[in-house]
Amino acid sequence: MVFKESERLNSIPPYLFAEIDEIIKKKKDEGFDIISLGIGDPDIKTPDIIVEELKKQADNPENHRYPSSYGLKALKIAASNFYKRRFNVDIDPDSEVISLWGSKEGIANIAYTFVNPGETVLAPDPSYPVYKIGTMFAGGKTVTIPLREENDYLIDFSNINNENAKDAKIIHANYPNNPTSAGCGLDFFEKLTDFALENEILVCHDNAYGDIYSDQSNKPVSFLNAKDSKKTGIEFYSLSKTFNMTGWRISIAVGNSSAIKSLGKYKSNVDSGVFNAVQYAAAKALDNYDGLISKNNEVYNRRRVKVCNMLDKIGLSYFKSGNTIYIWTKVPEGYSSASFAKLLLDKASVVVTPGSAYGSCGEGFFRISLTISDERLEEAIDRISNVF
Ligand SMILES: *Cc1c(COP(=O)(O)O)cnc(C)c1O
Repeated sequence: MVFKESERLNSIPPYLFAEIDEIIKKKKDEGFDIISLGIGDPDIKTPDIIVEELKKQADNPENHRYPSSYGLKALKIAASNFYKRRFNVDIDPDSEVISLWGSKEGIANIAYTFVNPGETVLAPDPSYPVYKIGTMFAGGKTVTIPLREENDYLIDFSNINNENAKDAKIIHANYPNNPTSAGCGLDFFEKLTDFALENEILVCHDNAYGDIYSDQSNKPVSFLNAKDSKKTGIEFYSLSKTFNMTGWRISIAVGNSSAIKSLGKYKSNVDSGVFNAVQYAAAKALDNYDGLISKNNEVYNRRRVKVCNMLDKIGLSYFKSGNTIYIWTKVPEGYSSASFAKLLLDKASVVVTPGSAYGSCGEGFFRISLTISDERLEEAIDRISNVF
């Protein structure tokens, strides 16, 4: 028997790249050596100190029971200390932090927490798909805000019409940005805060790449560094990319206490908190942040420079940024994002993510991930260079 999906699930637009997936599968079956530059998932292992803490805590029977939906006290304290040390932001561990099953979960559930059917949510285009899909699941309507290269992929608030600004319940933002790799300065977060305060909108800032950067000159700031930001928003700080913990499913949201409380109220009705041993391990990661991130950044910097040099040689242009694990690259003249991705797969057995997967404004670009070994990265770009 085939059961009819709910309308909300069924209304997800058909997957644009099913055709590409078909080709990948076929080529793999035929024995081609496929290299994927499409994976936004670190290949470097979780640091030992975090794994050791998990082992220790997993052994303690006190951690075997239901966790709180609002988060473990030890993690909330570690989060507060981390925000102070890393961003010089004061966070009250009792009322301004919640732990999440990853930022993806928090972002999806924030829509159920605040959005009524028919209500408006603002989300950038291109962007991480969950902003839009979470809103749709909750019955809301996403109004997209184009991110343009000529504006360094920052949200241009003058481009949001008054009606949408007045109607909006939530605005999503994400810097350093996936997929474009663009960073932003404190001045941008101040504009975002002013816009949200003026229109009484909840800011949901997705800080998934805040600690992946090439040098001090582009060290990211937090949304919560902006004056009065806590009055109008929260920040999702994911441990996934920074600490190579994508599989652990742990993240925190910090900021506006009333929004945090409401999100916790929603969550307590649909989940119980993350395994306490994982939360202790996350606290360990945050406590040891300073020693842990430089090693990651060394690897990504080396790969970023390598790939950029090779792209320069081939003559493919890309957005220059020292942030994130991505390189946002322009499709050559005469191709669409999808047709170029298909060409690379056909002729070079290399998978890239078409920019249009992140929204219509991503058309004309593709995303390269720096999450495979240096050798494989080199080989992939080498193969691309032989295609045209
Ligand atoms: C990877 C990613 C996430 C996922 O975070 P989790 O904490 O693993 O759920 C969230 N936002 C963006 C923009 C990402 O790229």
